[in-house]
Amino acid sequence: MHMFPAAEKISADLIEWRHYLHRHAEVSFQEKATAAFIVEKLKGWGLDVRHPVAKTGVVARLGRGKPVIALRADMDALPLTEATDLPYASQNPGVMHACGHDAHVAALLGVARLMRDNPPPRGSVKFIFQPSEEKVGPDGHSGASLMVAEGALEDVDAIVGLHVWSTRPAGQVCFSPGPQMAAAGAFEAVITGFGGHGASPHRAVDPVVLAAQAVLNMQAIVSRKLNPIDTGVVTIGVIKGGSEHNIIPESVELHGTLRAFKDEVFEEIKKEIARCLDTVKPLGGDYTLSFDTGYPVVHNHPGLTQLVQEVAVQAFGADNVKPGEPVMGSEDFSFYANQVPGCFIRLGAGFSDRENPDHHNPRFDIDESVLPLATGLLDAAARRYLSDPVEP
Ligand code: MN
Repeated sequence: MHMFPAAEKISADLIEWRHYLHRHAEVSFQEKATAAFIVEKLKGWGLDVRHPVAKTGVVARLGRGKPVIALRADMDALPLTEATDLPYASQNPGVMHACGHDAHVAALLGVARLMRDNPPPRGSVKFIFQPSEEKVGPDGHSGASLMVAEGALEDVDAIVGLHVWSTRPAGQVCFSPGPQMAAAGAFEAVITGFGGHGASPHRAVDPVVLAAQAVLNMQAIVSRKLNPIDTGVVTIGVIKGGSEHNIIPESVELHGTLRAFKDEVFEEIKKEIARCLDTVKPLGGDYTLSFDTGYPVVHNHPGLTQLVQEVAVQAFGADNVKPGEPVMGSEDFSFYANQVPGCFIRLGAGFSDRENPDHHNPRFDIDESVLPLATGLLDAAARRYLSDPVEP
């Protein structure tokens, strides 16, 4: 079906590496054994390796001079108890590669191996193995934003990343120029009133009622405040407050998430959330509100995406290269793609003969026959870019 013979030849290695990584799953910013495994392989192949970068990350380089194409894999697993009966199921209790980042690391190691065997005639390839795609740390950084802050993109001209996708058929890719994944962020608000006896509401300011009104008003942000052409999500996932049926509490906490496909719409939703909370003030209440850093929209660069699509069509056939409809999930790949032209590919990895649980499910798995496709596609895209770079 496809034409990546060099990648196909190392497919047994790719699978073995993925099994090792899957067994030794590690959560965000704790990817120590994972990084050690990567470093050992890359050094063994003679690459110039920097580690640690961004706490547990690895950056390696092959070749000298321009242009420089970066390829990115994320390394972290999830705090989830694996419920598969795979022979290579996680040996770390409560930690599981349930998003396929083990496959990303294995595939990118495969590219390094192919590049070592057959280096591109000009330019350089930078291999970025980043920690913590799933989580923003206490310093406000995810793995990608910290990589960028620590200079991983210095002298990089373009970047390509790939994500396996369990809910699409193995061997199909889908991606398009423009917005591909949403901007996402979380917020926490504390609404304060004035506590008292449940039988004497007139002597209290009830934060439960204030919170209830604010939550309902927030549900009008998308329907009444956004241009209907744009889209967004506001979800309140946590309401916390109170201790007893006849006590009016002093405060109520709200935790929520927001999503949008344009960074300016994302900012608008943030402003409107604050305005919904402002309504507690004339009623005698007050509030504090904080947003986490969040991830911006993943935008695929038109020229670079066209280049990668051409490579994909050649290898997979036009029928297997689909447009990438935007999804409401988010990805910190956006921190790279906001700095240099970026292309984020979704590679179908679903089994044709059984059910495919979604990402972040404890029964998540992928069809491993896609590993050489991932390696081959990244390898071929990087080579094409180095021989014929696109305008930034
Ligand atoms: Mn992921």
